Amino acid sequence: KVNKKTGLTSKIFIALISGMILGIIMHYFVPAGHIKDDILIEGVFYVIGQMFIRAMQMLVVPLVFFSIADGCRNMGDTKTLGKVGIRIVSFYLLTTALAIVIALIIASIIGPGKGMNMSLGSNEFAMETAEKTSMKDTILNMIPTNPIEALAKGNMLQIIIFAVIVGLLIAGMEDRMETLGNIITEMNDLMMSMTMAVMKIAPIGVFFLIARTFANLGYDVILSMLSYMASVILGLGFQLFVVYLLLLTVFVRINPFVFLKRYFPVMTFAFSTASSNATVPINIQTLEDIGVDKKISSFTIPLGATVNMDGTAIMQGVAVVFIANAYGINLSLNDFLTVILTATIASVGTAGIPSVGLVTLSMVLTSVGLPVEGIAMIMGIDRILDMARTAINITGDAAGTIIVANTVGNFDKEKFNKRT
Ligand code: ASP
Repeated sequence: KVNKKTGLTSKIFIALISGMILGIIMHYFVPAGHIKDDILIEGVFYVIGQMFIRAMQMLVVPLVFFSIADGCRNMGDTKTLGKVGIRIVSFYLLTTALAIVIALIIASIIGPGKGMNMSLGSNEFAMETAEKTSMKDTILNMIPTNPIEALAKGNMLQIIIFAVIVGLLIAGMEDRMETLGNIITEMNDLMMSMTMAVMKIAPIGVFFLIARTFANLGYDVILSMLSYMASVILGLGFQLFVVYLLLLTVFVRINPFVFLKRYFPVMTFAFSTASSNATVPINIQTLEDIGVDKKISSFTIPLGATVNMDGTAIMQGVAVVFIANAYGINLSLNDFLTVILTATIASVGTAGIPSVGLVTLSMVLTSVGLPVEGIAMIMGIDRILDMARTAINITGDAAGTIIVANTVGNFDKEKFNKRT
């Protein structure tokens, strides 16, 4: 069993690297044509990759609902839930704010977009999808008016709220609701087994997803946007290696590199799917393997996938500086503070699915009077950054979960340190 786990990590890693190589070869050395484009890239690669993503998505709604309801039932009392809730939300908000500060500093030093001389109105682009998410809506949208609709539409925050209520009430009436409680526990077990089954096919899915992305990537576009991309990637790296790993070392006293190694498969999933939501089942499962009680992670991970997006916040911080530079607009200290606030809220309002961070960026830009049309410049290369930031988004959820689980005695260090 032990060998099988290590096997999966290396298999996923091999899939990632060979997928990239195949993609780059396809991009440069295989002539365009029906066979390459329609049959291979948009045919075989696309279909197999999407089958894998859909299989993961299939797990999300039932798993989130049953695992949260079950977790709350096991936590039993509102006191523990309240304690965990307050701590995890504080962690999520503080690390997001910190992430934006880091992004603003790095981007101010590197200065992406300087000398681009874009002028307002020169670009006809209008963000059609840019719905403004206001704070009012974000708060009101937490409460489902119709729980079935929330489940059907996969509205995560609403599902979480409803599941918490269901779980807590069942816990309170355990004598009358034993059957219902057991059904929820068994459904949760079923979803976890399904998760493990999907994990087995992950290397194949990752391989084709990555191969397609790299085969389609415009490398010249990347070159022209290098300083923007480098700023984002530096920020993401800082958040991972300095912020998360340091916090884990200081607060939990675990070896951060053991964490990285054992957590790596989840990051690969997030990277290849660019979806925090799709990564929820695997995240919970992997955290359990490294010692986090499911009772905690089943609540904090879906919540984090919905509200905690440090990687997205970093991209938005850098994008603000980039667009300001490109249009020759000076940002004041006050603007920076506004960005920290609005990008934190935007992170809460960003759904854990591909490229939504680009949409909520419009809210951040508007808050400091930057042209929303600036988004058009970064759109072309956003996919690759979306992948990278999603990997950071979910690692932030995991770091917070381990730290909070440790404070309430639900993190098993021995299990963490066990050699695999
Ligand atoms: N794709 C990101 C996620 O799922 C959200 C985003 O930044 O677009 O976490």
